[in-house]
Amino acid sequence: MRELIKVTREKMTAAVLYGKRDVRIEQIPIPRIGAGEVLVRIKAALTCGTDLKVYRQGFHARMIVPPAVFGHELSGVVEEVGEGVESFSPGMRVVAANSGPCNKCFYCKRHLENLCENLEFINGAYAEFIKIPQSIVRQNLLILPDSVSFREAALVEPLACVLRAIENTGIEEGDTVVVIGMGPIGLMFVQVLKSMGARVVALGSRSSQLTMAEVMGADHVIDSTHSNVVEQVRKVTDGRRGADVVIEAVGSKETWQQAMSMVRRGGTINLFGGCPSGTNIMLDSTLIHYSEITIKANFHHTPRHIREALEAIHRGKLKAQSLITGEEKLTALRNVLERLLNRNGDLKIAIIP
Ligand SMILES: [Zn+2]
Ligand SMILES: [Zn+2]
Repeated sequence: MRELIKVTREKMTAAVLYGKRDVRIEQIPIPRIGAGEVLVRIKAALTCGTDLKVYRQGFHARMIVPPAVFGHELSGVVEEVGEGVESFSPGMRVVAANSGPCNKCFYCKRHLENLCENLEFINGAYAEFIKIPQSIVRQNLLILPDSVSFREAALVEPLACVLRAIENTGIEEGDTVVVIGMGPIGLMFVQVLKSMGARVVALGSRSSQLTMAEVMGADHVIDSTHSNVVEQVRKVTDGRRGADVVIEAVGSKETWQQAMSMVRRGGTINLFGGCPSGTNIMLDSTLIHYSEITIKANFHHTPRHIREALEAIHRGKLKAQSLITGEEKLTALRNVLERLLNRNGDLKIAIIP
């Protein structure tokens, strides 16, 4: 039966981005796979701030030139495997990361696969099928435990970025950590940090987000639209010292700068949110030098963190379902993206082909 479906069907439904806020649901060819590749039938794709950015501006400088399929947080079932693929077979439930490293370059050899010189990205999660290239099949395609749903599994990619950032920042139990920005990423930080025993101060601009931050365990929530946010943060740290760690998860000039004024002497800030390209910021050199502030930043994930993320979801360390606030059909994608642009209070929406 499966074979019959394969030969009689050549097209699939997919969302194609044509430009600014122009996404169309079309019938396009099902990708053909070659040796070492895997065809996955998508069961869930999650909306993400990056996709929203791509939809709003109509392209992605490094990855998406329209017309193009897009979407990158996905899980599904193996439909077909190429020659030489031994670890996967049709019917397996899997999650794929959105990139695969080369394993050969300078960075890969130092386990900095996130900075791989030949990082291969995939896009096209808002579709019925997606082709998983060799680099991902080799390292970033994982089989799902039965108890992990497709929706939850699709969170692996963003969660891996968060886990890597936390590890890289060096946070200890009892540390006071400020998280700026309560979008899905910021809320993931809150949950993971709480599970590690950190004291978390959550800064967000919308009341719905702050309520979520409280539900996820934040010890203090602060409305970031207040004029004296820095002062408010200092008030909830011992002796107005400032936070041990500040994680910026917005990606704006203002919040990057704010992060520096909230951290204590000798503290660390992690500039996790990426600003629009070409953004320059001013640094207070006196503050950084005499207060010995460490500035870190994080981009992307590694195969190890992809595994750790799936494990964290499997063990229930993350209330994955609370981050997914709705489910819609692929044909409704345009409406979903418009709704998210209007900041209706939704976090992530699961798109089901
Ligand atoms: Zn994403
Ligand atoms: Zn590499």
